[in-house]
Amino acid sequence: MGLLSQGSPLNWEETKKYADHIRKHGIIQFLNIYNKVKDRQRDVLKWGDEVEYMLIEMDEANEKVRIVLSGGEVLETLQEQGEKINPNHPTLWRPEYGSYMIEGTPGQPYGGTMSEFNTVEDNMDKRRREASAALKPNETLCTVTAFPRLGCPGFTKPEYRPTPVEAGVSRSLFFPDEAINTHPRFSTLTRNIRHRRGEKVVINVPIFRDQKTPTPFVENFPEDDGEGARAALPDHIYMDAMGFGMGNCCLQVTFQACSIAEARYLYDQLATFCPIVMALSAASPFYRGYVSDIDCRWGVISASVDDRTPEERGLKPLKNDKYRIFKSRYDSIDSYLSSCGEKYNDIDLTIDEDIYKQLLDGGIDKLLAQHIAHLFIRDPLSIFEEKLNLDDENESDHFENLQSTNWQTMRFKPPPPNSDIGWRVEFRPMEVQLTDFENSAYVVFVVLLTRVILSYKLDFLIPLSKVDENMKVAQKRNAVQEDMFYFRKDIFKGCNPGLDGATASAQNGVETDGDSEEYMLMSIDTIINGKEGVFPGLIPILNCYLENMEVDVDTRCTILNYLKLIKKRASGELMTMAKWMREFVSQHPQYQQDSVVTDKINYDLLRKCDRIATGQERCPELFGEPINRFK
Ligand code: GLU
Ligand code: MG
Repeated sequence: MGLLSQGSPLNWEETKKYADHIRKHGIIQFLNIYNKVKDRQRDVLKWGDEVEYMLIEMDEANEKVRIVLSGGEVLETLQEQGEKINPNHPTLWRPEYGSYMIEGTPGQPYGGTMSEFNTVEDNMDKRRREASAALKPNETLCTVTAFPRLGCPGFTKPEYRPTPVEAGVSRSLFFPDEAINTHPRFSTLTRNIRHRRGEKVVINVPIFRDQKTPTPFVENFPEDDGEGARAALPDHIYMDAMGFGMGNCCLQVTFQACSIAEARYLYDQLATFCPIVMALSAASPFYRGYVSDIDCRWGVISASVDDRTPEERGLKPLKNDKYRIFKSRYDSIDSYLSSCGEKYNDIDLTIDEDIYKQLLDGGIDKLLAQHIAHLFIRDPLSIFEEKLNLDDENESDHFENLQSTNWQTMRFKPPPPNSDIGWRVEFRPMEVQLTDFENSAYVVFVVLLTRVILSYKLDFLIPLSKVDENMKVAQKRNAVQEDMFYFRKDIFKGCNPGLDGATASAQNGVETDGDSEEYMLMSIDTIINGKEGVFPGLIPILNCYLENMEVDVDTRCTILNYLKLIKKRASGELMTMAKWMREFVSQHPQYQQDSVVTDKINYDLLRKCDRIATGQERCPELFGEPINRFK
């Protein structure tokens, strides 16, 4: 989850003193990179996925499932057996926020050929097997976005009690510090977010109201000193630690573009898909042992790292702080980067004016300058004493410090200094899916989207405020089926039209509708599968693209299976993971219609998940009957 430096981390008081220093040198480092590589052109697409995993233990005797806090050791084993002895090892492993998490990526990026789509699932399967082999017999690797009983008594192995005292890291009533990765970056981020904010983070998720859920739903927290009671909203599940958010798992894809211009174009175009693909990947309905009324993790993580002071949040008039800041550091993007996007930038953008000017003076254009000047309104959160003074020509840690703690739906990534890596964009909203088949399907779908966007010069841009509205809607329970999303009507008629008019209107099938807006509300089914006379649908466009590509039969079959999953999730023929989990719980014989996910229900749910993920059980309602080549 970002830059990992070694050394002695500074506390918040110290960090604050160096904030301007870090920002100043961060900008110099960015300018140095920009000037060196702004004209770099490369013609090949490269891309890679990141899957975050949880380690869990199935305690059969007690019918209890716990998360296992051995991520550190497992990671060491995996790196020692892999990348440390073989630079071409097919997998790479990295730490993640939870001490029960690890993150896996392919050893080398994928290239631009179609046949590589046929190797994604194989690589994910390798990762799952490799990591599983490093676990104890009753432990397993699990790709569930949010552990349903995260923060419930005894949810970790070994068991630890939370320590809600100031000397602790989170000061949480529920989440013990031992569940945080032991690398100092993670505890430092956690403590400094809390100190900067001036209180613990506050996460309130609406509870799902079932027949026997108490009304109002109000909890009593025995160890609370009053802060919890003040922060917790009635009819909400209250959480108070970064771990409740950053302790969740996701699925990300990073693309290398052929030039900075292409990266900016892709960044903008993909931003409009974030809410749509997130809703399609919805997989996190349960929090702290309760059934919630949301299906996605996004808002939970957003609140879990919200370091803004009351002044910055607009609760008090600005006195000590510089800016009113409208969003958490983990949130949706606030401005488009391409010239096509400029006219759709309709969100209030707080920027650091001095930095903005410095960037303009340094030769950066307005759109890129305001993007960076916006990221740099934040303070650095974790600084290592040994890393204060750097060689700005050859290092970029200060830039990365701010960049990697702005966790937005999309990330625009300049090349690291002195590397042969190009300009990249990262697509970050997806929830991780249960099986390698599903994760591959979502990843391949997104990569194919980039291919058609670039080949057909498609334009999906709508005002960014509408994308933000979509982000809110996308997290709601069963949004895929029940909600409507703003989407661009004529995607062939962008600021950069690539098709001639005849082809475009034949393909998009839009009759004149007399409506002057460029966008309208559509269901996800319409967006993905199309609707006669309304919108051509992304899957039909992808199929059209595939028909014109040379693809071997086996790869084509794999891709078709993937697209079928997306198509059926969008139409409602197949369930999202969130919906499937909700149904499992509501039909469990021990479920009391009280919104509580007990230890036994959680055990049965995750046992079933594990059996499905390891190919021991089928689950046609979740992903149909794909031919699985690996199990
Ligand atoms: N786990 C975080 C999420 O679910 C992302 C952390 C990262 O940036 O790697 O979005
Ligand atoms: Mg990660």
